[in-house]
Amino acid sequence: MRLLIMGAPGTGKGTYAEGIEKHFGIPHISTGEIFREAISQKTPLGILAQSFIDDGHLVPDDVTVQIVRERIQQPDCQNGFVLDGFPRTLNQAENFTRILKELNIQLDLVINLLADEELIIRRITNRRLCSKCGKGYNLITIPPKKEGICDDCGGAIYQRKDDSEEVIRERLEVYHRQTKPLIDYYEAQGNIIHMDGAGEINEVTNVIIAMLEAR
Ligand SMILES: [Zn+2]
Repeated sequence: MRLLIMGAPGTGKGTYAEGIEKHFGIPHISTGEIFREAISQKTPLGILAQSFIDDGHLVPDDVTVQIVRERIQQPDCQNGFVLDGFPRTLNQAENFTRILKELNIQLDLVINLLADEELIIRRITNRRLCSKCGKGYNLITIPPKKEGICDDCGGAIYQRKDDSEEVIRERLEVYHRQTKPLIDYYEAQGNIIHMDGAGEINEVTNVIIAMLEAR
């Protein structure tokens, strides 16, 4: 089973992808991770990607696509994969289609996770971290027992700058601007499904797995 999973920041797509990995025994491939891996292992593509990052540039699409191409040919991808964080642009998607054709691989499904944006904003702006041990909290769902103080180590709790409402609204806007053409692209291919990604994590994971099993 070869899948792509897409979803706005805060829809928990990484968590759902891990659930799919566990249930179906196919690797969850986060492109952020394979980048870091290629760079730390100093593979030729990793070194190339690093050179762009060092110069303060985005890694070009063709380099990204080549890194993904290498990864999906690894033995653990024989029965499939769930790609998370790729493709990010229409150009990447078109290149990815070409590569799949070359490798004679069929993409089975694109899962697009939707979520109420106000809910996402509320979730993210309520995230907190312990400044000492790094433990994560959420003021709504998992608040610390004592306000502002970590349950585990007594450290002070703080909010990351990236979790402010302003930053998250901007990220959502950028996400939609970039993703719209991708969604249209996969709509035209007829292999995209839209699902609600906002519910309780285990429930959503189970719904996704049931949907995949029924196919
Ligand atoms: Zn702590």
